[in-house]
Amino acid sequence: MKPDLPHVPLEVGAGPDNPPCPVCGEPLFPWVPLPLGTGMAHRCEACGLGVLSRSGATSDALADLDRGGPNGLTVVFENRDSLQAWLAGSAWIGLGTDRAYRFTPDSIRRLVANRDQIMSGMKWIPGASIVGMWQSGVNLFTFGQNIATGALGKAVAVRAGRPWQRGLDLFISVALTIPIAIIAVPLELLGALLHRGGRYRADFEVL
Ligand SMILES: [Zn+2]
Repeated sequence: MKPDLPHVPLEVGAGPDNPPCPVCGEPLFPWVPLPLGTGMAHRCEACGLGVLSRSGATSDALADLDRGGPNGLTVVFENRDSLQAWLAGSAWIGLGTDRAYRFTPDSIRRLVANRDQIMSGMKWIPGASIVGMWQSGVNLFTFGQNIATGALGKAVAVRAGRPWQRGLDLFISVALTIPIAIIAVPLELLGALLHRGGRYRADFEVL
């Protein structure tokens, strides 16, 4: 019989390699490699926040969140807790971005509480979410990331270093368009059903 493992609080993991989460203060842990080996993304085990660059202050996370909307009362966000992020890992469309953070519904609820707001609603955005699932699927086969959606201005493209790789990426993106779309549509619908869709609009109310 195995002895009971002692409860280890997350704080024990805090250190220079595990800076505190700007939303909830718990230590961040390595999550997935960033595109083209440009670093390691971290995530918070408590609120789910994804941190793509160095961690920051709560105000940094709030400012990044507000880049997703015009007035601090509604934002569009790519869900780090989505089925597509889970399935694609380091190929997830949300990693090819100039944003510092990738949010989850829970991390957003906690974050906006700092400015006396509550999340009053969250709505799945079908078109962009399905495109996100599709692009994440294509990213599994390409050197760079977000080649097609980047070309259309729907995401930030991360292009491979060598010309032949970029050429192959274009070819693969076209060749796999339909096969991956056939898989991506039902998968994203399933994600939405599980409340783990790829992209949502969140609305806030001031308390
Ligand atoms: Zn956190």
